Amino acid sequence: MELNTEARDRKTIFRHTKIIATLGPATDSEQIMAGLIDVGIDLVRLNFSHSTYEENAWRIETLRRLSKEKHHEVGVLGDLQGAKIRIGAFRDKRVHLDAGTTFCIDTNLPLDQGDETAVGTTYKGLAKDLGAGDHLLIDDGRIVLRVTEVAEGKIHNEVVTGGELLSSKGINRQGGGLAVATLTDKDRQDILDAVKLDIDYLAVSFPRSAEDVRQARELFVKAGGRGGIIAKIERTEALDTIDEILDECDAIMIGRGDLGVEIGDAEVPGVQKLLIDRAHEKNRIAITATQMMESMTYSPIPTRAEVSDVANAVLDGTDAVMLSGETAVGEYPVQSVKAMHRTCLASERRILKTGSDHRMYSRFERVDEAIAMATMYTANYLNVAAIAALTESGSTALWMSRISSEIPIYALTQHEKTLRRVTLYKGVYPAPMEILSRSHAEVNKNAIDVLLRCGVVQENDLVIITKGDLIGVDGGTNALKIVRVGHLIEPE
Ligand code: PGA
Ligand code: MN
Repeated sequence: MELNTEARDRKTIFRHTKIIATLGPATDSEQIMAGLIDVGIDLVRLNFSHSTYEENAWRIETLRRLSKEKHHEVGVLGDLQGAKIRIGAFRDKRVHLDAGTTFCIDTNLPLDQGDETAVGTTYKGLAKDLGAGDHLLIDDGRIVLRVTEVAEGKIHNEVVTGGELLSSKGINRQGGGLAVATLTDKDRQDILDAVKLDIDYLAVSFPRSAEDVRQARELFVKAGGRGGIIAKIERTEALDTIDEILDECDAIMIGRGDLGVEIGDAEVPGVQKLLIDRAHEKNRIAITATQMMESMTYSPIPTRAEVSDVANAVLDGTDAVMLSGETAVGEYPVQSVKAMHRTCLASERRILKTGSDHRMYSRFERVDEAIAMATMYTANYLNVAAIAALTESGSTALWMSRISSEIPIYALTQHEKTLRRVTLYKGVYPAPMEILSRSHAEVNKNAIDVLLRCGVVQENDLVIITKGDLIGVDGGTNALKIVRVGHLIEPE
């Protein structure tokens, strides 16, 4: 067992796993946002369920200004509310349900007219999707109802688990299977707003199929959006069609909150591992989300269980871990990120290895992908300090990041959009680089200068540079060059 980190290579001090922090009232000050950037967040998440356009516009403007000042790129993820099915409101805001009594969900009841006998719902078609014997989980399963009869839009239930029930809580059917449409009118409007905010990733909530994801991408692109699409895996149906969904998206988010309610909490850890593996096999990104450091909403330190949860997500190979309420409404937003940061670092030291059989036995169709794979193989078996991937769209860096490695991959690009996009790729660091000349000697020198400025290499280190003959052309990477810092051929 080796615990001495000092003796290890400089390259292992970089955190490879990316951290996403949800913004909210608790982070709405320049000081807190600056604090989040200083402790190294990679992306922020705007939760469209709980924020207005004006709030988000201020957040993005502030974040981008601070991140420029601090020379630390931060990506922006916009998360659509999606068709979360909710109960209506109670006239008295809350009711108490006793186990063994009856309670009705009435699709015809106005949304603000609930009482202890019945409540309305946001999904008018709910009665059609249910039958006697079904179990309904309200408020993430805190209240459990068993359907006894469905008639004329009324769902009659027996209360299995009772308790305090507040207005507008979510409804899930155990086992999934509710047919509500994925994109709501609000989502359509939020997509337009997201494009105006120039977000880098759009997260689609509750997709059941690849078609739902395709539809969201179509609307996003049509509105002029440029960025990745994230499919949130939080319904049973999404697990059944995961391969098709992966083909259609750039990344998945394992939405353990809703997913846990639908498939049962005990199933989530195993499913998490399967989803991360499947995403990587298909060159996609996996984000692990929800309740990772939950107790830090009110406490300055995490529980051992939470540290283990984050650590295990890293050991599972997740690309990113996410904070939700911990940062958005918590009392310790900056400390939550810090706790996540040190947990990721410690676990990465145990697993980042120089070896991988990813794509080892399959053929490549693209030259740039072949170069990316050859680079990782070489880097993992030669003592290389860093990789400099000159990239237009970021795709070379994405392929590289699918290979487990402790060698940092620097995505060097002149495009701001690409810098922000690669913030989500595990082990990839964005670095701006102006292309001032098409001379290869000049470009090599510029690339090394950027790495020197980032403090990642020093004299005599080996570096792999990848680039295309035609610098500035998408998908044109066709060369891998190994250079020694301080021993470059001087540009003429
Ligand atoms: P949410 O999604 O935070 O938007 O609910 C994630 C989850 O359900 O875990
Ligand atoms: Mn959710």
